[in-house]
Amino acid sequence: MQALRLVGKQLEVVDVPRPSGTDMALVRVEYAGICATDMAIVEGGYTDHAGTLGHEFVGIVESAPEPDWIGRRVVADINIGCGRCTACKAGHRRHCVERAVVGIRGWDGAFAECVAVPPSNLYAVPDTVSALDAVFAEPLAAAARLLEQVNLSPAATIGVLGDGKLGQLIAQVLQAHQRSVTLIGRHARKLDIAAQFGIAVGFADELKSATRLFDVVVEATGRADGLAAALRLVRPCGTVVLKSTFHGTWPLPPAAVVVPEVTIVGSRCGDMARALALLAAGVVRPARLIEAVYDLRDGPLAFQHARTPGTLKVLLRMAGTSGNRVG
Ligand SMILES: [Zn+2]
Ligand SMILES: [Zn+2]
Repeated sequence: MQALRLVGKQLEVVDVPRPSGTDMALVRVEYAGICATDMAIVEGGYTDHAGTLGHEFVGIVESAPEPDWIGRRVVADINIGCGRCTACKAGHRRHCVERAVVGIRGWDGAFAECVAVPPSNLYAVPDTVSALDAVFAEPLAAAARLLEQVNLSPAATIGVLGDGKLGQLIAQVLQAHQRSVTLIGRHARKLDIAAQFGIAVGFADELKSATRLFDVVVEATGRADGLAAALRLVRPCGTVVLKSTFHGTWPLPPAAVVVPEVTIVGSRCGDMARALALLAAGVVRPARLIEAVYDLRDGPLAFQHARTPGTLKVLLRMAGTSGNRVG
């Protein structure tokens, strides 16, 4: 089968054997999304993943130890724990030190015709949710993760920094939970998309000298200056949630955290069931963020497009998936 892999430091579409394993579910991938994390892996330094990329996907189960799964449209939790350690036993496989992560760390990903995952990682997609919405389940779960981490009262004002893919999803999730959210970005076109969902928006440039505007600031800019902006905009005793995983470091003046007694929260993967419930309820509409769909064989071109500044979601479509050509 075909797969988009890192060969050395180069992205290439190559022929690889189909995954096998009687204890695994084999999923025929329909769509897979390109994420900032994929680009960070290609640039080097994020993980030393050397195989097939791709961790945002939807597909149909081709084979599984439990025949009930076969033929079902699914998404999957990408964290594969060892099953033995304290974190795994407490149900926190995403924090297992020995974990593999599909398409990110030691496990072949979904930029391929077929991906193998443990059946316990599968989530069935409700019939009312389209494949083009379901492909967002993984980033949507990550976007919703902060609801489990931070006490967001309905009265709290929340600023989301970054109008890219993740910032947009976070703003949609907060809006769906009737929270007071403002999305702050640099691109009129992208802010317009959020405004169409009724989300309040603001231009980063116009807020350059603003201070202490929000009880909670979510940093999703993917930029090195994102943390400083978040610390400037959060109120004393407020919370800054960090979502960016860019390759680099954050300059962090200690007084900017210590004096206003800001709580800093790191936030990564979330609950897939929650993401699917949001999609099924129709309260988030991530497919609006799709800018282009490329065939898998054009994977390197798709990456080039995804890397173009200002681009929202670029998808890969696998052979045999019908509809939705590039555009
Ligand atoms: Zn991702
Ligand atoms: Zn473990």
